[in-house]
Amino acid sequence: MITHHPDDNLLTEYSSGSLANAVGVIVCAHLQTCPHCRKRVEQLNKLGAAILNQSVAEVVQPASFDQLMTRIRNQNSETSAGDKKSTSEHLHPVYANDPLLKHVPKVIAKLLPRDGKLKWERVSAALKTARLKTGQSQYEVAFQRISSGGRVVEHDHRGLEVTMVLCGSFSDEDGVYNQGDFLVRNAGEIHRPTATQNQDCLCISVVEAPVKVTGFFGKLVNPFLSFRPA
Ligand SMILES: [Zn+2]
Repeated sequence: MITHHPDDNLLTEYSSGSLANAVGVIVCAHLQTCPHCRKRVEQLNKLGAAILNQSVAEVVQPASFDQLMTRIRNQNSETSAGDKKSTSEHLHPVYANDPLLKHVPKVIAKLLPRDGKLKWERVSAALKTARLKTGQSQYEVAFQRISSGGRVVEHDHRGLEVTMVLCGSFSDEDGVYNQGDFLVRNAGEIHRPTATQNQDCLCISVVEAPVKVTGFFGKLVNPFLSFRPA
């Protein structure tokens, strides 16, 4: 059961299209698995449309209203073209046969290299990461695979980190996070995730800035995610 959701600020930014793509992908993946937040976004969309209609009626001149309608029509045609493309995409057998990767939400599956060559890097005995390309230079998007019962090196953040649990579960000082859960860590927060004993855990996260490792072993191994723009 999903108990951790994006807050209204994030959902509003998502709804208005102002969220950075890399973070938007994670919010979108959460929405694909969370009826509660889908409903919330629907409400926010209606609210946004009502505000837009009101402001158009009140302040927008006829010329710019035409421009606005052209933009909306263009956006709609781009969206439907994207949808057609996505339905013809299939998961590469390498991913389809991976018990953790085979159920990733559609929006995440689109980020996987088409040739099946997702490159996993061993960070520590318990943790492997694989970076994904999103075309965003200020964010890094990566999978983390924590082996069952494994503990990740304690680390803190110089920037925002948004994480979603795709499979399995993990816990840290603040709670337990299950499949579909969405969490945000702000700069300066320190945590040390541990996967549950009986199952490996797969997460996807977006990191805004380099992660600083705080524990002793941090000096010996790579950080949870060393920053490398995609
Ligand atoms: Zn939710």
